[in-house]
Amino acid sequence: MKQTLILGGGVTGLAAGLASGFPVYEATSQAGGICSSYWVRPGNAERIHETPQDGRCYRFEIGGGHWIFGGDQAVLAFIGSFVELRSYVRMSAVYFPERRQIVPYPLQNHLHHLGPDLASRAMADMLAPSGTTTTMRDWLAHHFGRTLCEEFFFPFHDLYTAGLYDRIAPQDAFKSPIDLAAVKRGARGEGDDKVGYNARFVYPANGLSALANVMAARCDMHFDATVVRIDPRSRLVHFADGSTVPYDRLISTLPLSTMMELTSLSVDVPADPFTSVLVLNIGARRGPRCPDQHWVYVPFSRAGFHRVGFYSAVEPDFLPAGDGARAEKVSIYVERAYPGGAKPSREDQDAFPHEVVEELQEWGFIAGAEVLDATWIDVAYTWSWPGSPWRERALRVLEAQDIFPVGRYGRWVFQGIADSIRDGLMVGSALRPFDPSKELLS
Ligand SMILES: Cc1cc2nc3c(=O)[nH]c(=O)nc-3n(C[C@H](O)[C@H](O)[C@H](O)COP(=O)(O)OP(=O)(O)OC[C@H]3O[C@@H](n4cnc5c(N)ncnc54)[C@H](O)[C@@H]3O)c2cc1C
Repeated sequence: MKQTLILGGGVTGLAAGLASGFPVYEATSQAGGICSSYWVRPGNAERIHETPQDGRCYRFEIGGGHWIFGGDQAVLAFIGSFVELRSYVRMSAVYFPERRQIVPYPLQNHLHHLGPDLASRAMADMLAPSGTTTTMRDWLAHHFGRTLCEEFFFPFHDLYTAGLYDRIAPQDAFKSPIDLAAVKRGARGEGDDKVGYNARFVYPANGLSALANVMAARCDMHFDATVVRIDPRSRLVHFADGSTVPYDRLISTLPLSTMMELTSLSVDVPADPFTSVLVLNIGARRGPRCPDQHWVYVPFSRAGFHRVGFYSAVEPDFLPAGDGARAEKVSIYVERAYPGGAKPSREDQDAFPHEVVEELQEWGFIAGAEVLDATWIDVAYTWSWPGSPWRERALRVLEAQDIFPVGRYGRWVFQGIADSIRDGLMVGSALRPFDPSKELLS
């Protein structure tokens, strides 16, 4: 029997599965995609996927710290109906390693930390914007001016976009809020850090996996089912184990570029680019200058990472319980971006954790590390070339074959967990079988 299938059991696929009852096919043996937690015991390398009874483990997330920001109130209420949510006020900063200085985020609202000379030059630049805004680099130069771009925005975006920032279109302006009145106040030392898209966030009391697992328990899940080919003509999905499943419609949460390859469909323009991320989770003893922030953005690091997050600054239960040593420990995630799919060699992957630890020790963030655990995220951030019609055309080609891409990767947009869940709920509800006469009578 042909039916609608959902591809991918991350939060988007789970929301679509919940809303529709359609079966969800997931490549791995876990629900939640990159939004799932796992545990590692100090001095050990094994990942534990169930909450350990004794709690003597570091808790990490596959894709690094995943805090639920933004989102419609209705979606937050939906999430809150499954798990207890705790609320937080974001504490983030920019860290300048050369002068070992922490400046609250957003940098442009805290110019007085940079000293009077830099602050007045940065301010003068920002009050007289110039140039075009075709690429992300142009956009940054136009809005923040030469001084701040050289100090932070250019080197940070170079790392964050793996060198693409001078060729891709500007994107996600909301991540770099510009309010000249706030800039002026910040130059006088009255900085405002409660701005931007993630100034407040929520997080499940028992970790993200609690949310994914409770959603998955209500879905028709098919784990260890990796899609390797889709035949839109015969409407068959082929899996890695050689099995096939017929479909009449597909809801896909897989990256748009992957779907074009799996279906062998094409459009006549070059595909938009993406970046991959190597996430390194670290359990360590706190160093003497370990920040209290939830995360810091870094314009330069020898090991090439652009952000260091501190799970345990959000919640101490990311640390091993029981030995009274929580105050001495820290649970960290570090992100390094790579051009799309350019996975480093095994030797480079093995060297990376040690380079990061050495650097974080030099900065005083950590003392000895007792857990190092890395994950490669092949499609992490999606971008577009200036003026590129690729995304729209690819979506149209797939939709013409009754394949409905959904979510952050499916639709090639920057969005977080809450918006991905909203999209999954919407598409699942829209495509579920609907018999108006029955619905009206019941
Ligand atoms: C580094 C990083 C940090 C982030 N931080 C935050 C944050 O703090 N807060 C926030 O709200 N959002 C954050 N996000 C975004 C968030 O991760 C996404 O919005 C969310 O994961 C999207 O869920 P998804 O289900 O669409 O995708 P995914 O989580 O990627 O799920 C897709 C699923 O499809 C499966 N799959 C892939 N290929 C196949 C195949 N061939 N066959 C079958 N199954 C397959 C995968 O195993 C996966 O389970 C971050 C993203 C990244 C990359």
